[in-house]
Amino acid sequence: MRLSRYFLPVLKETPSEAQIVSHRLMLRAGMIRQQAAGIYSWLPLGFKVLKRIEQIVHEEQIRAGHIPMLMPTLQPADLWRESGRYDDYGQEMLRLRDRHDRDMLYGPTNEEMITDIFRTHVSSYKDLPLTLYHVQWKFRDEIRPRFGVMRGREFYMKDGYNFDLTKEDALHAYNRHLVSYLRTYERMGLQAIPMRADSGPIGGDDTHEFLVLADTGESEVFYDSEITDLKLGDREIDYDSFEQCQAVLEEFTSRYARTDETHDEAAFNAIPEARRRVARGIEVGQIFYFGTKYSEAMGAMVQDADGHKVPVHMGSHGIGVSRLLGAVIEASHDENGIIWPEGVTPFHCGIVNLRQGDEATDAACQMLYDALTAKGLEPLYDDRSERAGAKFATMDLIGLPWRITVGPRGLKNGVVELTSRRTGESEELTAEDAVDRIVAIYADI
Ligand code: ATP
Ligand code: MG
Repeated sequence: MRLSRYFLPVLKETPSEAQIVSHRLMLRAGMIRQQAAGIYSWLPLGFKVLKRIEQIVHEEQIRAGHIPMLMPTLQPADLWRESGRYDDYGQEMLRLRDRHDRDMLYGPTNEEMITDIFRTHVSSYKDLPLTLYHVQWKFRDEIRPRFGVMRGREFYMKDGYNFDLTKEDALHAYNRHLVSYLRTYERMGLQAIPMRADSGPIGGDDTHEFLVLADTGESEVFYDSEITDLKLGDREIDYDSFEQCQAVLEEFTSRYARTDETHDEAAFNAIPEARRRVARGIEVGQIFYFGTKYSEAMGAMVQDADGHKVPVHMGSHGIGVSRLLGAVIEASHDENGIIWPEGVTPFHCGIVNLRQGDEATDAACQMLYDALTAKGLEPLYDDRSERAGAKFATMDLIGLPWRITVGPRGLKNGVVELTSRRTGESEELTAEDAVDRIVAIYADI
């Protein structure tokens, strides 16, 4: 993309309504525009990152054997009357009525709808296990929407639902989700710690939240510092193996890590003092096992091997896709702007032309642009007639992890400059070598 043809409405001033850095930077970098409290338009740059994050979520769900689909945002109230949650959900649910006077709602989550789909189409244990998921907009009429996309009213969420014959199978689904979530967040450059949590309105007995540590997080968290040394990395996990998934769950949940809702002072104090941490965290996902709560209420039964009709065991699993943009920025920025991890960056690198209109410089930039594009990468080429300082400031603000700077002086010596956004370190090399380096960096991502 050429910046001169793009739509990147960066702001010079720091917006006063934004209280936390990710919100400020998303507004300044022209990623979002608020349309009403907690409701945003996703401008091109923000939309690009949203889609990258969604893509990682899909890839890791599919890798774990889960099946993508799409349910609507609007739901009939009757489904929620069956589960009893129509009344329980309270004012967070946006309720509306259509022209035929039917009660509808904008879905805050989809347990009821997926259970309805299941009961309509599945009747035998032979069709199990089954895990379906979608990534769809949700609406929760939060009392205090704030912090930009972190606590919106309309937000984008991946929610998945497993259906299993036995509790043991459903716990395997739970473990499998835990593993796939760890991998999902790591690919986004995040460390998200699974913490024992409270089940809230979803209900159920087993649940973990995934929290990204950040001073601006809304949850207070208590943990054993050893847990921050854990990394899933690129180990191969067989998602069909109960033992392998269970082993990862044990590894990542055996140390103390809880949110304030489930915090146990005595258990916390049993950790050696030097390892006790009290901090704040951003909830970026949650997994639940809730047994037969919805299947019994809504009649989602299957025939088992003996011909008996039994309610299926279920769980649900959510990732805050739109909130993750805020979480990534909270975890990765400096005073000049965002620093995107390679896994989610909107463009793979920036190209800065220091002398727009100079024939050799323009040609070298074009060559870099074409070579990177031919390798399947997306550069953002700042081809505007701006001062170098303004171009650098824009690149720093929008946070592309790599920048190639091209100017007449370097070209005289046959070199361009490659700069890391994270470290600020620059290196001179030929344009061909710069392309090879960028290609190599993204080959492993
Ligand atoms: P919270 O405690 O933050 O209100 P929740 O526990 O009610 O969230 P879940 O039902 O677990 O949310 O939804 C799954 C994920 O969706 C959450 O882990 C979070 O990342 C995201 N999410 C929930 N509410 C919002 C919101 N208002 N804005 C943006 N993302 C949200
Ligand atoms: Mg939650």
